Order: sequence, then C-alpha cells, then structure tokens
Amino acid sequence: MRRRLIAGNWKMNGSRSSLAELDAIAAAAEAAPGVDVAICPPFTLIERAVARQPGLAIGGQDCHAATKGAHTGCIAATMLVEAGASMVIVGHSERRADQHETDTEVKAKAEAAIAAGLIAIVCCGETAETHRAGETKTVVSSQLRGSLPVAGGDALVVAYEPIWAIGTGLTPTADDVAAVHKTIRGVLVEQLGAERADGVRILYGGSVTAGNAAELLAVPDVDGALVGGASLTAEAFVPIIAAAAR
Ligand code: PEP
Repeated sequence: MRRRLIAGNWKMNGSRSSLAELDAIAAAAEAAPGVDVAICPPFTLIERAVARQPGLAIGGQDCHAATKGAHTGCIAATMLVEAGASMVIVGHSERRADQHETDTEVKAKAEAAIAAGLIAIVCCGETAETHRAGETKTVVSSQLRGSLPVAGGDALVVAYEPIWAIGTGLTPTADDVAAVHKTIRGVLVEQLGAERADGVRILYGGSVTAGNAAELLAVPDVDGALVGGASLTAEAFVPIIAAAAR
C-alpha cells in the first residue's frame, strides 16, 4: 500500500517570513499520520525550513546531475542532503521550458538525487496543444521512458502535471486523470519491472486546491498531489492535507 504524498512547490516565491507558514503545515502533517507532507521552498530557505520544522519533509526544486564541478548557479543533490532536504523535484515543466531541460538530463538528475539518498519527484505532462490533439498518453509515455531513473520503489515519485493546468485554475476531468495515471503505471511496470514499479507513487499536479483536492485524490492510481500556488500559505495547503487524510 503506497502512502499518500502531498508536496508543495513554492517555486521562486517566499522569504524568511514565509517560513511561519510551516508551523501550521507541520501541525496538519502531524494530525495526518497516514500522509507524507513535504514543502519544496527556494534553495536559500531549505536549511532554515528544516531547522524550524524538523519533522516536516523539505525538498529542493532541482539538482544537477554531477556531484560537484564548474556549473555556476547549480546545486548538487549531495548539497541538498547536507542542507537537510529529503527530496527533490526534477524535470518540472517550467525548467523543461525555461532551462531547455531534456528527458536525458532529467533522468541523470533523478539518478543523482536517488544516489545521494533523496526521493526524486520526476515531473511529466503535456502541453495544451498535445492535449487538444488527443496525444497526451503518447507524449507522457515517451517523456517518462526518457526521464525515469533505473531505480524505482519509494525513492521515486512521478508527478503528472498537464502544463495547461499549472497555475491556470483548469484541471482535467477525473476520467482523464485516471486514464493518464493508468498509462503511467503501465510505463513504470514496463521500464522498472512490476516489483520496483509497485512502490512508485504517482502524484497529480496542476491547480489543485482545497475545493478540488478530495475529488482528484479519489481518482484511481492517484497517490497524492504536487501543489504550486495553494502550497504558499497554510490556509490554502492544510485543507489539501486534510483531504488526503480522509
Ligand atoms: C506546479 O507548478 O507544480 C503546480 C502544480 O502549480 P499549481 O498548483 O499552481 O497549478
């Protein structure tokens, strides 16, 4: 039985004062013992976040595939571990678009993250154009075949995030989410084998809010959520944790 994971992605938002939000988020996580809860703040806040709420899982939003070297502005997975992080998001669509990250690079980052002892949240998702063309399953499957690390199990999490749903208030239908998650589960089995695929959690991400979390989390094969905007305040995030606990 896979434990649900509700992970918040603060993106390039937040400052030291935002860490006060973690107090109520950590309390909600404690009140939901069957749910794993994580917050991925900007790199500069990781160490302070861990110090403020040591019981809450804190993650990074990216890592480099190398352990060190001449990579100005980048951060190694081992550095995230040293800062106290326990997970990292790799291959988010914003990085695939802004930093032109390829599937091969995402795979290398995920491998490095897992080798460093982190949980790797590997993101995938289709554009609005692909969605309209009815090619979502083909495109997501291909992205995953290129991006998945060879390790599986509970060190690996896949986040299905339709790009057109991120930050827009739009979400796919429950049937569409179910169909894509079923496809992803099939790709995991094909790529990793049934045993290693079994522990891999598949999150849905894209405009998850207090209002739609219960419905989305009830979809078959949805093991949790990756939440952007609604993770920035405890007021918006705590009801999503509560929905996962039910
Ligand atoms: C995200 O970017 O990972 C995300 C899911 O954002 P939002 O919840 O704001 O749509």
